[in-house]
Amino acid sequence: MAAIASGYKTLKKRVVIAGFGDTGLLVAINLGRDFDIVGISPKPCLVSGQELGMRLTQPQVWKKDYLMPFSRYKKLRGVRTLQGLITAIDTDKSAVTVRLRDDSEQVEHYDALVISSGVTNGFWRNSTLEDIDAINQHMDRASQQLLGAQSIAIIGGGATGASVAANLASRCPEKAVHFFFSERQPLPGYHPNVRNTAEQHLLDAGVNSHPNHRAVIPDGFQCDRFTTEPIAFSSGQGDFTADIALWAVGKMAPNNDFIPADMLNDDGFVKADPFLRVAGYDNVFTVGDIAASDPHRSSARNWGYRLLGYNIRAYLDTKDIGMKRYQSPRYRWGSIFGVQDDGLRVFQPEGSSFRFPSWTIHTLLFPLAVRKIIYKGIHKA
Ligand SMILES: Cc1cc2nc3c(=O)[nH]c(=O)nc-3n(C[C@H](O)[C@H](O)[C@H](O)COP(=O)(O)OP(=O)(O)OC[C@H]3O[C@@H](n4cnc5c(N)ncnc54)[C@H](O)[C@@H]3O)c2cc1C
Repeated sequence: MAAIASGYKTLKKRVVIAGFGDTGLLVAINLGRDFDIVGISPKPCLVSGQELGMRLTQPQVWKKDYLMPFSRYKKLRGVRTLQGLITAIDTDKSAVTVRLRDDSEQVEHYDALVISSGVTNGFWRNSTLEDIDAINQHMDRASQQLLGAQSIAIIGGGATGASVAANLASRCPEKAVHFFFSERQPLPGYHPNVRNTAEQHLLDAGVNSHPNHRAVIPDGFQCDRFTTEPIAFSSGQGDFTADIALWAVGKMAPNNDFIPADMLNDDGFVKADPFLRVAGYDNVFTVGDIAASDPHRSSARNWGYRLLGYNIRAYLDTKDIGMKRYQSPRYRWGSIFGVQDDGLRVFQPEGSSFRFPSWTIHTLLFPLAVRKIIYKGIHKA
């Protein structure tokens, strides 16, 4: 189909957000109504990358906060969302080409572009063009498969694996949950104190931890589905068989096939300067898991979206004056296990943690801290 130019003139400067997931959406919320914002996503709603443990063990609870129609965000009023996949960026024309669900193409021009297309990881994060029914079906099916098993192997010691293992063990104490990771402790990249505390939490929750186990990824396997075959280890231990195995080994692929090669580093992530701007391009910014902003690529967690709201405004209003620098802590941080019976614990970069008691979760944390402060208002369902 022929490309249709939609570069009509408006008085407002146009910001195109390439990837409207966790961070892209928050950039739009933080930019405000002074700009003509277009958010492009293969999904018709926010499908958050957060809290896989809760998503698999309590999908209906997870969906209330993490699977949200764009129309429910108060600050997105006036933002145009487009369901499609970006196939190309033309930096000379300041335009992106979008393939829509009916296979037609649409061109969107920008004054500033944000690349926030994230990564594909396992079966839970992808760039597939799909409708809400398909999203729900895939989610429910994965949860049913996992909850239908009696013995479960979780492979990979990052936050995703730890979250699934802990949530499964605490919600389903009758199941045997085995957690395999290649180091002595789970959660590489987190402060040593956080790793100790998390290790103890997993033990208390009833998880069978298997440290120093490096699983062999079967040839050609993308870790994008459950497996039932015996798991082999290159670290010397014998095979292990569970009813079902979930692979959360960090085998992630940046969603970069539409991004010009000179914007990417050797690993395929977008080169970011200290202002979260793409090196060599004044009007292209990047944030979230695709952005090579720091060794942990942690701008999704460290208010990179807020910084971009500020820096894009500084760029468009005043051409760079007063742009702020992105700063990231040495260690990863965050909630890791999500909401548990005793509340929600947030682990800090310097090794401490604090807990929101359970009575605050639905009175303060979600209604106030998350919905009002982070998302700046959400309409009732
Ligand atoms: C408020 C908040 C709290 C968080 N808390 C924690 C925490 O406690 N612990 C923790 O470990 N992490 C936390 N995180 C981080 C989180 O786990 C991930 O890092 C985050 O989901 C990554 O967001 P993203 O926007 O980069 O990617 P995504 O949310 O995956 O969004 C990328 C989007 O781009 C789309 N896309 C891909 N290709 C294209 C294309 N060609 N065209 C158009 N669209 C495309 C994808 O389909 C997807 O919709 C938090 C993040 C946020 C925002």
